[in-house]
Amino acid sequence: SVPPQEVYRLVLLGDPGVGKSSLASAFACVLSAGGCEGGDGEADREVYTRRMAVDGVDALVLVSVGRTQETSFEECCPHGDAFLLVYSVADRASFDAASERRIHLRRARPTHQDPPVIFVGNKSDLVRCRAVSEEEGKACAVVFGCKFIETSAPLQLHVVDLFVGAVRQVRLHRAVI
Ligand code: GDP
Repeated sequence: SVPPQEVYRLVLLGDPGVGKSSLASAFACVLSAGGCEGGDGEADREVYTRRMAVDGVDALVLVSVGRTQETSFEECCPHGDAFLLVYSVADRASFDAASERRIHLRRARPTHQDPPVIFVGNKSDLVRCRAVSEEEGKACAVVFGCKFIETSAPLQLHVVDLFVGAVRQVRLHRAVI
């Protein structure tokens, strides 16, 4: 079995339609489909799971797809180890929303407890309707002190890299707090 310190709770946040569920299901298997009416906490979200070795150490990765209206780390997932802010590179409004979300998320915790955040530009396959350049995404991540990656769920581009990168970020974070 996996020791508790090797469990990683990753939370995907972003506007509806940016591809959160697609990324999670391209990487992992569904654990609970969520969607129950009037549920609170974990019950009404989708959770996906995958067990894998990262840098030779077993990891149990739990990916939950967060609700969009949540505005602090505590609200959206008090036990989240890392937050993946997803936007679509073909939708500028979703990019602006991801930046907004980053600003709001920071509020609740002192900086040294700030969990890792990764900016994720999804739908990188939509070359002809791209509205946000890779450079712009990167620059924004630098400003916010986040990691950055572009992905495509249907083409499976950098999807595993995204989640493996998140696990590594959590390990680095756990080593310093
Ligand atoms: P969510 O609301 O953020 O969970 O978004 P979904 O995962 O439901 O995806 C919304 C729509 O975008 C679906 O039709 C997906 O097939 C599509 N989609 C998701 N990821 C990608 C991607 O990387 N590229 C393209 N072209 N379409 C995607």
